[in-house]
Amino acid sequence: MPTLPLHTRMLLGFVVGVCLGLVANLMFAEAAWLEALVKYVADPVGQVFLRLLFMLVIPLVFSALVLGVVEIGDPKSLGRIGGKTLAWILAVTTIAVLIGMVTVNVIQPGRGIPPELAQELMAQTSERASQIAAGREAVSGIDVLLNIVPRNPVQAAANGDLIAVMFFALMFGIGATVIRSDGTRAFVAATQGVYDICLKLIDWVIQLAPYAVAALLFSITSKLGFDVLVQLARFVGTVLLALGIHFFVVFPILLRVFGGMSPLAFFRNAQPAILTAFSTSSSSATLPTTLKVTEEALGVPRRVARFVCTLGATANMNGTALFEGITVLFLAQFFGVELSVFQQALVLVMCILGGVGAAGVPGGSLPVIAMILAMFGIPPEGIGLILGVDRLLDMCRTVVNVGGDMVGSVVIGRSEPVDRGTAGPA
Ligand code: ASP
Repeated sequence: MPTLPLHTRMLLGFVVGVCLGLVANLMFAEAAWLEALVKYVADPVGQVFLRLLFMLVIPLVFSALVLGVVEIGDPKSLGRIGGKTLAWILAVTTIAVLIGMVTVNVIQPGRGIPPELAQELMAQTSERASQIAAGREAVSGIDVLLNIVPRNPVQAAANGDLIAVMFFALMFGIGATVIRSDGTRAFVAATQGVYDICLKLIDWVIQLAPYAVAALLFSITSKLGFDVLVQLARFVGTVLLALGIHFFVVFPILLRVFGGMSPLAFFRNAQPAILTAFSTSSSSATLPTTLKVTEEALGVPRRVARFVCTLGATANMNGTALFEGITVLFLAQFFGVELSVFQQALVLVMCILGGVGAAGVPGGSLPVIAMILAMFGIPPEGIGLILGVDRLLDMCRTVVNVGGDMVGSVVIGRSEPVDRGTAGPA
């Protein structure tokens, strides 16, 4: 029996969840059976999906970060390019997240749910929310900085303390780069295995998304009714606007100022990779096309293109980091969770690292977002709200991710001495 593509099924899940939720909200708002249905059927289905996502966060983020550091630090030829790539990833991803955070703070797409309802929703959506909220007090002051360094990495992982796990992974990666023994090589190969397995598991988990979308949206719309759709439309608009600014304003400026390339020529020549990214929603699946385009059509020296694009497919995710920032702040607004400037700064850092830790596959950023939400006391169930519209946003952010790799290659390629292996410009 022919099955529909996943994104169509997700959209169907969205429509079914919203329609049933709206009917329930309009006609049976006070019914006891509705409450029971939400509590015993819809919520658990959504919870299973979220738990599966959470389950993958630690191995995924750990392996992605270790491999990223090992690749950057490869002393054979890549030390200098590695340093430049790292600086590029950090600088441009920061710009992306800032654009996202400013846009979402200005537009405030998540505001508008009456506070009592938001509170009620927050309490109902997750018994975890109160536990998380209790831990939220800790996310302020000097403790936050101290907590970056885990006393016990296993405990940090068990507590879902993502930033401490990231710190540990970075240190581990540096260690593995410095010591080049058979043992460390075997470790890096095994870590690559863990990463590959995580990608496969995400692929399986995402297959459950249509049911989770239907369940989570039913549960939210049956409580909030039509309002939630207005909020969602504003969220989509905010993400597209911010991605558009990064892609059509920031990239051209970087190309002109540092890359010595006309943005129009760039967009024309980069088209095959842009279209592949848009249609696959996966930086990893686009990688062969990205490499070909970057070397042949954009004329970047092969060793630069190889390194920057390959690393970039998993670690340089401008669009994903921007999206993570908007989603976290949107859901904070939605659930009435106030984040201080300091906490927002922490969100910024988490999203920059989250861009590195996310996998370059469709929906690869979802586990990381779920974890960041939990860290700030925002119910991760909010993910259900955005899942139904995620495919379109995923396509667009993947274009920005891949675009960032190509722009980075052009800029870094230009800064390198001209030498062997240079492919000619188109
Ligand atoms: N789909 C994105 C990529 O592959 C990752 C994500 O943001 O979910 O680049």
